Amino acid sequence: GTVSADADCLFCKIAGGQIPADVVRESEHTLAFRDISPQAPTHVLVIPREHHRDVASLAAAAPGTLAELVREAAAVAAGEGIEAYRLVFNTGSEAGQSVFHVHGHVLGGRAMTWPPG
Ligand code: 5GP
Ligand code: ZN
Repeated sequence: GTVSADADCLFCKIAGGQIPADVVRESEHTLAFRDISPQAPTHVLVIPREHHRDVASLAAAAPGTLAELVREAAAVAAGEGIEAYRLVFNTGSEAGQSVFHVHGHVLGGRAMTWPPG
């Protein structure tokens, strides 16, 4: 596929409106929607509208969009009324990445343990 959209990518389809999602925020270059299988009371995914496979690729190709994504994650937490949250970018299948369109998990609303499993 191309950089901007991948025909076989689930999150490109969500960004393009071809698959529905529970959208909580939108910005020029990002979209935030609730995870279909929430692991915390707040579990929102923030994605760039453009297709990039992981956070390092996004940082290299579009650092301004990554900064926008991080600001949007903070705005999601504020909108949910939570002051502490975790922002996670799983990178690579062994680390738990299953969708290869970069997404930040915004997790909060309960106590978090460290280290993660
Ligand atoms: P990863 O494992 O790649 O870090 O995270 C992928 C996330 O996407 C998972 O938490 C999973 O529950 C979520 N997910 C997978 N398919 C869908 C979907 O169709 N809609 C939404 N909203 N979330 C999804
Ligand atoms: Zn994609």
